[in-house]
Amino acid sequence: MKDNLSQRSNAMSFDVEDYFQVQAFADVCDRARWDGYESRVERNTNLILDLLAERGTHATFFTLGWVAERYPSIVRRVVAEGHELASHGYAHHRVDQQTPDQFRADIRQTKQILEGATGAPIKGYRAATFSVGPTTPWAFQVLEEEGYAYSSSVYPVAHDNYSNPDAPRFAYRPKGTSRLWEYPISTVRLAGRNIPCGGGGYFRFAPYAAFRRAIAHINETEHQSAIFYLHPWEVDPDQPRPEGVSLKSRFRHYLNLTRTVPRLKRLLQDFRWDRIDRVFAANPAT
Ligand SMILES: [Zn+2]
Repeated sequence: MKDNLSQRSNAMSFDVEDYFQVQAFADVCDRARWDGYESRVERNTNLILDLLAERGTHATFFTLGWVAERYPSIVRRVVAEGHELASHGYAHHRVDQQTPDQFRADIRQTKQILEGATGAPIKGYRAATFSVGPTTPWAFQVLEEEGYAYSSSVYPVAHDNYSNPDAPRFAYRPKGTSRLWEYPISTVRLAGRNIPCGGGGYFRFAPYAAFRRAIAHINETEHQSAIFYLHPWEVDPDQPRPEGVSLKSRFRHYLNLTRTVPRLKRLLQDFRWDRIDRVFAANPAT
């Protein structure tokens, strides 16, 4: 496309979970009560799928097993429209709060649910809240053993929920694996630190031009593909607001939700995007 800043394909991804399933609300929105909340995930994912269809863009959808069980129409539409369906675990448990056996059962069950609903082979996994890191050295090996080809579970920035600032910034083979790849969320180096530019709350907080510059830099100067992610609830300013959430979490979750759709449209127009498995198809296992 002529209007793209770069001819290189970048990876667009969405973590398909509902507004009450985020880590920041975990103390307030107990898993046992999830079925009692008004669900918005189907509406919001459909809105994103409509946007992608308008642009003719494909993406990867890391989906909770819990969501796929209740709303199989979402995952069927994802696959029918040519997107990549991937796993976000069953019920958004942090990896660093599971034993290796619990983790294995979780990713195995989710793969079965997603494949059962669609018939599409599940190759990719993204950890809830980017919760793999120095305390879970076994996680990548378990993923490989369970038939996953790649993970996109590391956001190598300093952050209170997913601090893993020393991980590599670009695709790498995690220690202990022989085929599996990790595709970290994109960052740029500035003054010796990794600055996030791959989405999440930062995308609604910082000016759009900063993201545009950062991704262009990754493409043109570093000759790498960027990896970006958003959530369906980020396109929904009218979502219900559970009570009892801390001020910090409210700030992060609700900040500038009206900006997401217009910014996502610009991002889709300014760069070339595709599913993770196709962007990194040159890496053997993917
Ligand atoms: Zn998530």
